[in-house]
Amino acid sequence: MDFLYSPEQLKVRDEVRRFVKEQVPSSKVREMDTGELESGRWFIEKAGAAGILGLRFPQEYGGRGLDWVTEVAAMEEVGVLGTSLGCAYIMPAIVGEALALFGSEEQKRKYLAPTLAGRLYSAEALTEPRGGSDFFGATTTATPDGDHFVLDGQKRFVVGAQDSDWFLVYAKSDPQAKPHESMSCFIVERDFGVEVQNIYQLMGTRGGGTGRLVFNQVRVPGANLVGQLHGAYAIFNRMMVPERLHSAAGALGTARAALEVATRYSTRRKAFGQTINNFQAVGFMLADSVAALDAARALCHAAALAADAGTDARRIVSEAKKVATESAWQIVNQAMQVMGGIGYTSVYPIERLLRDTRLSLIWTGSNQVMNLLIQHEWFKQVMKGGDDARDVEDDALTPDEAEKVFE
Ligand SMILES: Cc1cc2nc3c(=O)[nH]c(=O)nc-3n(C[C@H](O)[C@H](O)[C@H](O)COP(=O)(O)OP(=O)(O)OC[C@H]3O[C@@H](n4cnc5c(N)ncnc54)[C@H](O)[C@@H]3O)c2cc1C
Repeated sequence: MDFLYSPEQLKVRDEVRRFVKEQVPSSKVREMDTGELESGRWFIEKAGAAGILGLRFPQEYGGRGLDWVTEVAAMEEVGVLGTSLGCAYIMPAIVGEALALFGSEEQKRKYLAPTLAGRLYSAEALTEPRGGSDFFGATTTATPDGDHFVLDGQKRFVVGAQDSDWFLVYAKSDPQAKPHESMSCFIVERDFGVEVQNIYQLMGTRGGGTGRLVFNQVRVPGANLVGQLHGAYAIFNRMMVPERLHSAAGALGTARAALEVATRYSTRRKAFGQTINNFQAVGFMLADSVAALDAARALCHAAALAADAGTDARRIVSEAKKVATESAWQIVNQAMQVMGGIGYTSVYPIERLLRDTRLSLIWTGSNQVMNLLIQHEWFKQVMKGGDDARDVEDDALTPDEAEKVFE
């Protein structure tokens, strides 16, 4: 679908594609999957040195001033490596969104620029043991104390808990206020006293040092408050655009990788005297996957265009996250089916990609939460009316108003 992109966008996409092909040894991917390596820092350092982190951000902070379409295309390329490196790659652009749009000049110089250069390793700490979906029900507190805030509480499932230099942390700064007016966002350096209490054994997305963080009277300078006090709602809403759009784009890459491995396999593997791609049942599984992948990519592209246009992209971004991740799950699953038993072994990477892809339906807002958002925005749009479109209800064969009984 190269026709979606301008020559400049393709050039950057291909630069990232080359990086993924040439700069990422399979041995590292394996070490992360087996847990010998519990950090994506090495990858971030390389990507930062190559200048491919934070493509969308202003050049003065180390970005390239490019658009969402380019960043989404780049993310698809990194997605072929799976969710762990995909997450490592895009984290600077997720936490960077908060700093670039809401942070102070000092925060941009001290944290954003070195993060986009790959010199600082970052993580986001939103989810709590008591729940991730109910984000504004968080219980981690931030209590003012002179020119500091004191953070108490826990966050879990934080990728990079093991060794990130700093965390973007959301905490209740006014627990009595309405949920959307009760939280603030902070830059918390590990050295302020953040403790790690558990590194999880995961089904997939391994090697990212995903853990539980404990904040026990952690003192954070007032200068590390991002945006307005109690103003985290706006930051959260904005951060969810890169978070969800890039989950979607990464899933495209993971699905594509599995589909390509399975396609090539089908042209070599023989059964009943012929290669299995000659069986329509196999070819049609692949055809379904190709169509699903292209449809998902088109939706991601539309969502990126909406973000570039500066419109409220929340609904289409949620749709892209839901559709791309669910399509990816089906595509990787079908790829395994095409490969037969060998696909279920670690001789091929399909089983790892399957384990990785499963997470994409859960994280960055579960797909049920995506549905909540989609239906909310849809009802708002339809019930607002006034779009001058034809009301096809009037075209019914027998539009008998007396029969339209609602209660
Ligand atoms: C490997 C991994 C890495 C992660 N990385 C990070 C990270 O770096 N930083 C971070 O902050 N978080 C991270 N997460 C957390 C992730 O975003 C959450 O797991 C996710 O948002 C779901 O929250 P939960 O696990 O608490 O599930 P819950 O919120 O308890 O949800 C459980 C189930 O209930 C459903 N549900 C909940 N509320 C509703 C509702 N209102 N309507 C319909 N259904 C609902 C959910 O869809 C889900 O099916 C990661 C998680 C994992 C597993």
